[in-house]
Amino acid sequence: MALRFYNTLTKSIQEFHPITEGKVLMYVCGPTVYNLIHIGNARPMIVFDTARRYMTYKGYDVNYVSNFTDVDDKIINRAIEEGVSSEVISQRYIAETKKDMAAMNVLPATTHPLATQEIPEMISLIQDLENKGYAYNVNGTVYFRTRKDTQYGKLSHKNLDELRSGFRDLKVTGEDQKEDPLDFVLWKPMKPGEPYWESPWGKGRPGWHTECCVMSRKYLHSTTIDIHAGGEDLIFPHHENEIAQVECSTGKEFAHYWLHNAFLNINNEKMSKSLGNFLTVRQIGEKYDLQVLRFFMLSAHYRRVLNFSEESMEAAKASLGRIRTAVRTLNDRMAHAETEELTDAERSKLGVDAAGNRISFTVETDPETGDKILSDDMRLFRWQFEQAMDDDLNTADAEAAIFNLVKFANIVVTEESSKAFAAAVKDEIMSLCDILGLIVDVQEQDLTADIEAKIAERQAARKAKDFARADAIRDELLQMGIVLKDTRDGVRWERK
Ligand code: AMP
Ligand code: ZN
Repeated sequence: MALRFYNTLTKSIQEFHPITEGKVLMYVCGPTVYNLIHIGNARPMIVFDTARRYMTYKGYDVNYVSNFTDVDDKIINRAIEEGVSSEVISQRYIAETKKDMAAMNVLPATTHPLATQEIPEMISLIQDLENKGYAYNVNGTVYFRTRKDTQYGKLSHKNLDELRSGFRDLKVTGEDQKEDPLDFVLWKPMKPGEPYWESPWGKGRPGWHTECCVMSRKYLHSTTIDIHAGGEDLIFPHHENEIAQVECSTGKEFAHYWLHNAFLNINNEKMSKSLGNFLTVRQIGEKYDLQVLRFFMLSAHYRRVLNFSEESMEAAKASLGRIRTAVRTLNDRMAHAETEELTDAERSKLGVDAAGNRISFTVETDPETGDKILSDDMRLFRWQFEQAMDDDLNTADAEAAIFNLVKFANIVVTEESSKAFAAAVKDEIMSLCDILGLIVDVQEQDLTADIEAKIAERQAARKAKDFARADAIRDELLQMGIVLKDTRDGVRWERK
């Protein structure tokens, strides 16, 4: 079965066919860096990182670009509050975001462009739109002329006339210089104290929607890209406005597939900074191994709203724990196996013949229930996993396939099993978990030595009154899921 995605543009599930066979050009809108990211922001990161991993597993060479928006009112306000430059704020939170991403096992993008590094190209795009009659300048603010774009609204499938009248009622100061309420800002003039760049329209900075148009195509080296993704709140106006600019400028389609994740809610309300009901990834990391968060995020299909709660995190922790326990048991079986080589019975469970060749693999359908069934063959679970992932990244069913494999492992690998058999089953669990970015082989022994060494280093730093280093080590351990307790008998550690 081919890989299929739900495409917001066509409102349908479509088979994925990249522009160039074997290659994927993918862009994901990244966060605005003025604060620690919250777990709502983590949802697109985890979901699209998993999409990337799965496409890589399927043999695609994925060029994955995700930006940091490092010029924005929120960054400027934070800088003013702290009395530092915007750059200090954005650099700080880029570094913190990268730490959180690593702790969630989100792979670094092929390129992480910064908006502030791409201003000349943004100016060129706006100039091009102006030359083609799609943009106009009013006193240093440049607007996009939406009425001239006959395709405007094609992504969000909105009724533009209704939107226009809605906007008209809400007219705010400054808006009346626009020709149309749906016109949006491409370039805004500088206010005192704000970062600015020189431009044909005076000192100022680009609008947010222009940034992604430039960064995506520049680093994917293509006018048209395969996949553009982000949270569903970005469909309108952000992605609609990106399409308008790129397509009016180039006359070509911007992206073939538009993927959007649904929200992460808390108490059935969208988690967001403006509502103040958010939890940062850092806060969750103090209480849980962030692999638990990753497991939780993938336990629902990405287009379904996911509600965050303590109970669902505990359930995710228990589920991940079951996989880890199975892997630990398999490690144990391998260490204590009495025989090395596969027996014939084991071979048949792995679906290989005596010469190590794969025997043919069939999935039969139970005529009564319609269920897919297969005799005792481990390959069933990978098949189930791939079916789920090909079906618009159904990670919930992919996790279920891993559980079926874990159940199989717990039954078929026994004290009598050969080392090769236990290893093959373990490799299969590891391989499927790795596609979801889940780390399940927690080598207790190695970890203990590592932790003890870090604690000793922290003690030495404290003795030398290097408290910054001591704190840094404690944070590093926290990221690994280890909590330190200073007791009268010295430092004790425990797992979160
Ligand atoms: P922002 O920094 O607000 O531009 O958000 C960065 C990314 O996180 C965007 O793709 C948003 O759509 C996404 N996002 C923000 N809040 C949530 C949420 N509660 N659930 C899912 N995605 C979110
Ligand atoms: Zn964007």
